[in-house]
Amino acid sequence: MHLSKRILVTGGCEVLCVDNCFSGTRQNIANLNNHPNFEFLRHDVTFPLYLEVDQIYNLACPASPIHYQLDPVQTTKTCVHGSINMLGLAKRVKAKIFQASTSEVYGDPDVHPQPEGYWGRVNPIGLRACYDEGKRCAETLFFDYHRQHNLKIKVARIFNTYGPRMHPNDGRVVSNFIIQALKGVPITIYGAGSQTRSFCYVDDMIEGMLRLMNSGDHLSGPVNMGNPTELTILELAKKIIEISGSKSKIIYEKLPTDDPKQRKPDITLAKRELDWVPKVEIEEGLIKTIEYFDNLLKNDPRI
Ligand code: UDP
Repeated sequence: MHLSKRILVTGGCEVLCVDNCFSGTRQNIANLNNHPNFEFLRHDVTFPLYLEVDQIYNLACPASPIHYQLDPVQTTKTCVHGSINMLGLAKRVKAKIFQASTSEVYGDPDVHPQPEGYWGRVNPIGLRACYDEGKRCAETLFFDYHRQHNLKIKVARIFNTYGPRMHPNDGRVVSNFIIQALKGVPITIYGAGSQTRSFCYVDDMIEGMLRLMNSGDHLSGPVNMGNPTELTILELAKKIIEISGSKSKIIYEKLPTDDPKQRKPDITLAKRELDWVPKVEIEEGLIKTIEYFDNLLKNDPRI
């Protein structure tokens, strides 16, 4: 929704939004449906798609561990078959194609912060592998189509991103903590909360994605995109409690297997090539996201 809206607002393009709605909802695009340049198609990218387009953004695949681990085989298919189908489409119509890759390609990193030149530390047979290795293979496919078929590719490695319109049951840490804080129920920290993440507000991420897509042909990527401000998960919980004025207590639960201990993007390349740096500080982004979930909970008490 955020990307479609931003492209429509910028003007001059028609947007065809393709989604199988596995982890998204059609309500998110309800306000775009009447736009004359917007069209929605329910389709699963693991099946071929024949269209005429100039640019493709391949964002397919649930990114939340609880969602992508529900059907791990389908997750790998979405990353790999989905990329093959979208790359095939791009090749046929000579479209430029953007790939939403992920910081997960770095796995549980032993280099910190992570630059694009780092090859990562991924457990190939672990519970996260369906997503991590799926996205790594997708990168391989993108670069092989680029080398073999001269395709114009743009690969972004997206670090943890948050903001309004996340699904309330997304299961990611920001949405979980905010909903728990607003409901006044315990905040569930997995492990001791000493693991770190760096959270980027969605508007900053969209800006980075558009800049990469519209950059010169010399830049295929991969380009790290994320906010380098690093927080422990405990610090995040405390910030959300403070900003929302919640009375929730913190409780500690089992750490999921292969949960990365630290994650922070090195965004030197994006700064230099795209003149892009995230502008929204974590406090400001959390205020907006808390406001969004507060309204959602008021309008739908079942959440
Ligand atoms: N996490 C947590 N409580 C939750 C959800 C997540 O402590 O209710 C932790 C999770 O174990 C991980 C971090 O928060 O260390 C970020 O998790 P998320 O699923 O948002 O993203 P990812 O692990 O893919 O970066």
